[in-house]
Amino acid sequence: MRATIMYKAGDVRIENIPDAAIKESTDALIRIARACICGSDLWPYKLKGRGSDPQPMGHEAIGVVEDVGSEVRTLKRGDVVVMPFAYSDGTCAFCHEGLQTACVHGGFFGTANVGGAQAEALRVPQADGTLFKLMAGQDDALMPSLLTLSDVMGTGHHAAVVARVGRGKKAAVVGDGAVGLCGVIAAKRLGAEQIIIMGRHEDRIKLAKQFGATDVVSERGEEAIERVRELTGGFGVHSVLECVGTDQAMAASLGIARAGGAIGRVGVPHYDSIPQAQPMFYDNIIVGGGPAPVRAYIEELLPDILEGRIEPGRVFDLETGLEGVPDGYRAMNDRESIKVMVKP
Ligand SMILES: [Zn+2]
Repeated sequence: MRATIMYKAGDVRIENIPDAAIKESTDALIRIARACICGSDLWPYKLKGRGSDPQPMGHEAIGVVEDVGSEVRTLKRGDVVVMPFAYSDGTCAFCHEGLQTACVHGGFFGTANVGGAQAEALRVPQADGTLFKLMAGQDDALMPSLLTLSDVMGTGHHAAVVARVGRGKKAAVVGDGAVGLCGVIAAKRLGAEQIIIMGRHEDRIKLAKQFGATDVVSERGEEAIERVRELTGGFGVHSVLECVGTDQAMAASLGIARAGGAIGRVGVPHYDSIPQAQPMFYDNIIVGGGPAPVRAYIEELLPDILEGRIEPGRVFDLETGLEGVPDGYRAMNDRESIKVMVKP
């Protein structure tokens, strides 16, 4: 079958690899109906070293179940399913607490062990706990929005939840990628009265405004912090959704959080430590977050998609087959595209 393999920074290829197949009795085999390229896939696209092991890519998908292992009880051939970016058994203590990304039998897609979703098919471990069955056909018009439940919408929602967004709160979203844009949707959905998007790309800002952003801050560094403080009566925001993962993004997040505020981090951190320990301490600022338990959020977010209250699928602005995936990486990396949908 055809699949996407990353060799080193800038070198991503579509190759023939052995067909995905059931290995464990708890596995399902899915044919990929839709996948996508994630902002986090751009980290290896920028940084992956020569000589490191080739990496199968892709961790977001909607698939059609093709086969199930002997112990799988809730799924059958032909089911249309959302695949969260992490697999989880659905039964351990962490899964019961709604933190499926810490599942004791869990792990992540897009690794040598389980393979990636930017491919024709994929083996899904812990299928009963991992996959969420949709009552939709695979050509449903809502498919782009449903696909975001596999990562970016759930991740933006997680940032908002950890940042304690609520009715009447002031929120800021650091980062105008697909996750940041979904963070805007999530902040609005949870009742924020002011939502400041921090970003510079015209197409993304336009979409952010349509999703509910009330203010735009396009400055960088200290100027950006200054501008957010101006917009918030001098104090900063209650909630910061940090959707980038760089030290600059973290520094900006700390600079714009008001005393008693919270920062929800969902950008994979590419820094060693969080700066400004003392100002953070004296201002009682909470910093939290991590890989979103998107499996836990599907049930909450799905009705809003089905009933048209949110349209996170609008973050997709480019569609390609598998052979176009390498150029999709380039387009996202060059900021020509916000997010690429893949139809294998
Ligand atoms: Zn678990």
